[in-house]
Amino acid sequence: MLTSQLLNWYLKNKRDLPWRETKDPYLIWLSEIILQQTRVNQGLPYYLKFKENYPSIYHLAKAKEEEVLRLWQGLGYYSRGRNLLHTAKHIVNELDGNFPDTLKELKKLKGVGDYTAAAIGSIAFKIPEPAIDGNVLRVIARLYKIEEPIDDRKTLKKIKEISELLIAKDQPDLYNQAMMELGATVCTPHNPKCNQCPIREYCLSFPNKDYQRLPVKKNKVKVTNQLINYLVLENTKRKLFLKQRKENDIWKKMFDFPELTKTHINKILKQTKAESIQTFPPVHTTLTHRKIKAVFTKISYHDLPDTNSLEGQWYSYEEIEQLPKPKIIVDFIDQLKASPFSES
Ligand code: SF4
Repeated sequence: MLTSQLLNWYLKNKRDLPWRETKDPYLIWLSEIILQQTRVNQGLPYYLKFKENYPSIYHLAKAKEEEVLRLWQGLGYYSRGRNLLHTAKHIVNELDGNFPDTLKELKKLKGVGDYTAAAIGSIAFKIPEPAIDGNVLRVIARLYKIEEPIDDRKTLKKIKEISELLIAKDQPDLYNQAMMELGATVCTPHNPKCNQCPIREYCLSFPNKDYQRLPVKKNKVKVTNQLINYLVLENTKRKLFLKQRKENDIWKKMFDFPELTKTHINKILKQTKAESIQTFPPVHTTLTHRKIKAVFTKISYHDLPDTNSLEGQWYSYEEIEQLPKPKIIVDFIDQLKASPFSES
């Protein structure tokens, strides 16, 4: 009964989302990768852009990494974009373009874990496997008043077992999407809309409002602070000096400014014959495990400065537009475009 009430509610109330109109495993995979750790509203334009640029896995497999990262720009977790391209090439070159259709094979794809494999498997191939993401963990923990931390292995196992009993074996696609939809739109982390919940009568945490403190988590994510000092060089042709990141980190192969320590910047400031030196108010951004404070020091030159010691090259604003860049750089460059070449 719980499951059929949930499915009926989903069919009547589901949001109209483009990836819900297809059974094409390529498009479902694309949407699932884009939506990992991303809200639907934020991911939707990216899904449409990717679908338009790469309507099939063959189109995507032919893309250049920089092109994919450029389209991915602003969505964060850039390894997802890189994995996307890697997997498309793998499927086209090694599997003759046939998308894997078993859980075991799906999980072998780069960037596809238990949840994503179950989501693609159930939606594209009707494999009766519960897809358990953060939304589903929350709904089940509240529904069954599970007091143990949901990030504990034993609890995860318990929630999986419950889900295996609940899943509609003949409609696993609808069940998984309904559970996730309920978590995303009704059983939300704060102030769940219990008055709209189709399975409220089964919910053990509803009568005493235990949903206010459930689910419980054991590991709080440790956030570290990071300071980045960017040196922004600008010449009279209004070109900026950018470099491609080689570090094996989340921004690998994206473009940003040379990063220097404050001491290094001060040294350059003393030696240089720059026309103007400008330090911008710090920009703050939060990634999953990091709080970043970026300080941009812009130096404008009338003569080309010596950039031999720095890796990178000069780019016009039009060229920069085509380069994949972290969001913090995109926002800063937007600011710069609006200001004239500065002279002190
Ligand atoms: Fe979540 Fe409230 Fe529904 Fe329980 S009744 S599952 S807490 S929305």
